[in-house]
Amino acid sequence: MYVELKDVNKTYNDYKASNDINLGIKKGKLVALLGPSGSGKSTILRMIAGLETPDSGEIIIDKKVVNDISPSKRGIGFVFQNYALFRYMTVFDNIAFGLKIMKEKKSVIKERVKKLMKLVNIENLGDRYPNQLSGGQRQRVAFARALAPNPELLLLDEPFAAIDAKVRQELRNWLRKTIDKVGITSIFVTHDQEEAIEVADEIIVTNKGRIEQVGSPKEIYSNP
Ligand code: ADP
Ligand code: ADP
Repeated sequence: MYVELKDVNKTYNDYKASNDINLGIKKGKLVALLGPSGSGKSTILRMIAGLETPDSGEIIIDKKVVNDISPSKRGIGFVFQNYALFRYMTVFDNIAFGLKIMKEKKSVIKERVKKLMKLVNIENLGDRYPNQLSGGQRQRVAFARALAPNPELLLLDEPFAAIDAKVRQELRNWLRKTIDKVGITSIFVTHDQEEAIEVADEIIVTNKGRIEQVGSPKEIYSNP
């Protein structure tokens, strides 16, 4: 899936959260939106997801302008920083949620959820509830749930922010590997430069609602 933003603007009460944003994200890449808090990263992500509408400009997914297309019809999976798992559902049912809404057959759901639990290394945790999991395990569940309906694009908003430093490192490596395995175009928001350098194919640096730099980690951070 190819994602493009053309001359996109978004203002909140006089504050330009997105100021003439132009960017293109190639298929199969893992791209980081990197910048300080308040620089407009999440606004970009939410507009791609369809959770926010730009004041002007175009959001384009696979050559199609999607400004007026609802989030559920954009083929996008979303992972939030605070997991946002359903508290009263087991891990299995959390992951199955989107598939049940799509009215998939029970047997199909079961197969798919099992496969996803294996992919994210939580094969034995299907019967647990979110409060019985560690932060890292919860984030794996959130990731599996986002992938369940087979999206073509995955959006991650500070996916490791709520996880302690030791586990975060492990999860970064795991995310990189898993995304390579699935081969899905992914965009993640972070304010952590080290994380962006380590995980991303490409970094888009935001500041004060604008894009300041775009390039591979090497292009942006190696000394001239
Ligand atoms: P980041 O993700 O880089 O922290 P955001 O995109 O969340 O930045 O926010 C950019 C700016 O827009 C911030 O100053 C924030 O306060 C403002 N903003 C974001 N969402 C809203 C909203 N729903 N209402 C009002 N202001 C908002
Ligand atoms: P039935 O017994 O009605 O055929 P299923 O065996 O498909 O139902 O599963 C019923 C419920 O059991 C599911 O909705 C799910 O919550 C749970 N479940 C099924 N497979 C697993 C699994 N591998 N791990 C954890 N829970 C599961």
